[in-house]
Amino acid sequence: MKLLNKRAIVTGGTRGIGKAIVKELVQNGCNVVFTYFSSDESARSLENELSNESVKVFGFKADASSFAAADETVKFAIEKLGGVDILVNNAGITKDTLMLRMSESDFDLVINSNLKSVFNYTKAILKTMISQRFGKIVNISSVVGIVGNPGQANYVASKAGVIGLTKSNAKELASRNINVNAVAPGFIETDMTDKMNDQQKEAILSNVPIKRLGKPEDVAKTVLFLCSSDSDYITGQVLTVDGGMVM
Ligand code: NAD
Repeated sequence: MKLLNKRAIVTGGTRGIGKAIVKELVQNGCNVVFTYFSSDESARSLENELSNESVKVFGFKADASSFAAADETVKFAIEKLGGVDILVNNAGITKDTLMLRMSESDFDLVINSNLKSVFNYTKAILKTMISQRFGKIVNISSVVGIVGNPGQANYVASKAGVIGLTKSNAKELASRNINVNAVAPGFIETDMTDKMNDQQKEAILSNVPIKRLGKPEDVAKTVLFLCSSDSDYITGQVLTVDGGMVM
């Protein structure tokens, strides 16, 4: 119970890595508001699965790329949970294609969903965290934001931007007792990577020393560490969870 009675917002919480993070936080005693983009049914089912007498879990429909919706999410979380101690910026999308074919709208959509969303939620939560002189912010980046990847210029730019935002915010907010860190997953088995064929997966595995794709839970456990007091002296870092792919 590393997060007993803490209160968190997790963006994009109904599937994949986000869902594993919500579960990990709840299992450690944390009350959670997770956001979702479309499926009311998945949101209600996750609320029912995880809520119990000691932990509150609420889904809130919000497009992470909307500045106004981030503000509404924070208001909702404060109303339902009484405050917010932890923010996990997880929501993200891909729209892969070669730079030559990439449209302006593909670029804008990915930057807004993956990078501006982190700005939106951090901005919306900041006054609350500063006034309580406590906060843990964890941003989900990607290893490709560190090393680059052909066919993903928009996605890579967004994830490299998340790392820059993480480091700047860590320096600005350290004196307020707010830790800001990033997690950079490698290839994790979710809907996002399901689009790859077996040949592509084999090619990736050949560069993973631990010789398996990651699981959402591998990322969730690292997020738990960065949300807990075990990491109080860590800020502005990017923790790769990639089976040793990037080192
Ligand atoms: P996923 O597609 O399974 O889940 C992404 C979640 O984000 C979904 O619930 C989706 O509804 C939500 N989302 C997307 N855009 C949103 C928006 N504008 N507003 C609200 N919610 C939105 O993907 P995943 O693999 O679980 O990815 C989670 C995070 O991890 C993403 O930021 C992704 O870039 C990152 N990541 C994933 C991998 C991987 O291998 N799967 C690797 C590196 C980084």
